[in-house]
Amino acid sequence: MPYTFSWWGNKVVEAKRIRENYLRVMENVEKAAARAGRSLSEVTVIAVTKTFALEIVKAAKEAGITHFGENYVQEALEKIKVAENATWHFIGRLQRNKAKYLPGNFQWVHSIDKAEVASTLERRAAGAEKTLHVLIQVNIAEEPTKGGVAPEKVQDLLDELLQFQFVKPRGLMIIPPLPEKPEDSRKWFVKLRELRDQLKAKGYPSEALQHLSMGMTDDYTVAVEEGSTMVRIGRAIFGERRLNR
Ligand SMILES: *Cc1c(COP(=O)(O)O)cnc(C)c1O
Repeated sequence: MPYTFSWWGNKVVEAKRIRENYLRVMENVEKAAARAGRSLSEVTVIAVTKTFALEIVKAAKEAGITHFGENYVQEALEKIKVAENATWHFIGRLQRNKAKYLPGNFQWVHSIDKAEVASTLERRAAGAEKTLHVLIQVNIAEEPTKGGVAPEKVQDLLDELLQFQFVKPRGLMIIPPLPEKPEDSRKWFVKLRELRDQLKAKGYPSEALQHLSMGMTDDYTVAVEEGSTMVRIGRAIFGERRLNR
């Protein structure tokens, strides 16, 4: 159902709806984790608030959500102010000139795919004395229009990131090709997990490869079955976005 926020009194209703959706997602994550012999505590559910109004973030906070994801820096800064104690994940394409806004506002960045941008981020994080946990975005299906590094380039980028003091590599992230059905994404999730395991076998610190950020509304249960530790969920919690981006 498309979201409409018509009047102030809707706030309570909205928080209740968001909470029900969030709990349903958690329940699905728990069941998927159990199918793979894993537990709910191994998976962080990140609520993706892009395009949704500030009031929705307030309602989500009241609903008990503690991890939020945003794609656009400017849009996020206002929202972060209303949920400062939450953990914020930057999941969008990162431009170098926006790097200065990240340390202190976001704790995680899922979309690192260029050494130059990462080093700008390191400089900014050092200046602010704030740690940023980062994930390398992998262009797993090697789609020309998508961000992310090619699978064979991940190791080089990881080597660069491991030299930083404030920007800390923590794992890998993918946005696989749009699935027609959840199962379509499974092969990409498996591929990312195998890539992570290959790097681990080469002796990279397990802390730097701890997380797999994979799974969105259409395929998160499959992602959890394949080892996801962070699912990024928008529509299943907040409803359809009117702006599709
Ligand atoms: C929008 C977005 C999401 C959430 O997508 P849904 O399909 O609404 O769950 C997750 N990750 C990224 C990178 C996104 O841009």
